[in-house]
Amino acid sequence: MSLISESLSWPDSSSHSTLGAIRPGERHNYVAFFLTMACNLHCYYCINLHDGGSRKNMLKRQMTADEWILAANRLELRADLPLTLQGGEPTLSNSFVRLVNEAKPELRCDLMTNLTFDVDSFIANVPVWRFLRDAPYAPIRVSYHPGQNDIDELVGNYFRLVEAGFRVGIYGILHPDEEIRRHILETQERCLKLGVDFRTKEFLGEWNGTLYGEFKYPGAVLGKPFRSCRCRTSELIVDPAGWVYKCHADLFQGRDPFAHILDPDLDADAIDEFRACSFYGDCNPCDIKVKTNRFQQFGHTTVDVLDIEGERE
Ligand code: SF4
Ligand code: SF4
Repeated sequence: MSLISESLSWPDSSSHSTLGAIRPGERHNYVAFFLTMACNLHCYYCINLHDGGSRKNMLKRQMTADEWILAANRLELRADLPLTLQGGEPTLSNSFVRLVNEAKPELRCDLMTNLTFDVDSFIANVPVWRFLRDAPYAPIRVSYHPGQNDIDELVGNYFRLVEAGFRVGIYGILHPDEEIRRHILETQERCLKLGVDFRTKEFLGEWNGTLYGEFKYPGAVLGKPFRSCRCRTSELIVDPAGWVYKCHADLFQGRDPFAHILDPDLDADAIDEFRACSFYGDCNPCDIKVKTNRFQQFGHTTVDVLDIEGERE
């Protein structure tokens, strides 16, 4: 199916009453609404700014709360596939509170946050059940950024949320810089002793001239000149304006969306299409990284790439 790529335009609101269901299949691993790209922190390594990405593009047009609710209500997700709310800092979105209160009750959400929000207001306005599900990790995942958010405040907020019934985890990145890495590991040890679910994530990308991470496709990250290929994602990722992209690099750059989340013709089959790309080399490390999928099979990547220009058999 070629979908709407020839004539991408903002769907007419008259079509909202005809929106069909989007039912991700077994190979679809992630559904995320990037509610806003705005963030109150300024991490120099922010992945949203990967290779020239800019928040300015994303601040121009945002879907309204009514539109996000419509979009969420189209989703028919498996029990093991939540709708992840992220950004930027998703709680800064004006739509966040209405979305988590008014979307259909069977929808479960995960939240990626820096946990600098007003915890009292969050507890008063956000339903706990929306963020509860059976998963080996916490549905509310907090990123700790040394020098940006304060770990003692995070731990205080963590316990207040947990006491209110939320499941929360804090994550620190094992940065290649020895001092930062040591700090993260010491912080993890301290947090674990306090009973805080603190986990670490590997650093992906370039640091001091070295590329960190295990990537399936050579030259896909930081490879210039860019090459053409065909690419297929396993994710449904939606930017603040509602555009749907084939990868995170496209989303963060605001380039080449292939659909709009409120387009009546969009269905889960559209995710499975291989699409032409001219930016092989600018791939986001998260999309190309080799990982274990939810069936515990190693070797999975978020995207599959074919027909890379200049590649020998
Ligand atoms: S908290 Fe996250 S979104 Fe905000 S600047 Fe840091 S890495 Fe970027
Ligand atoms: S090849 Fe890279 S830049 Fe192109 S769509 Fe795939 S992941 Fe994105």
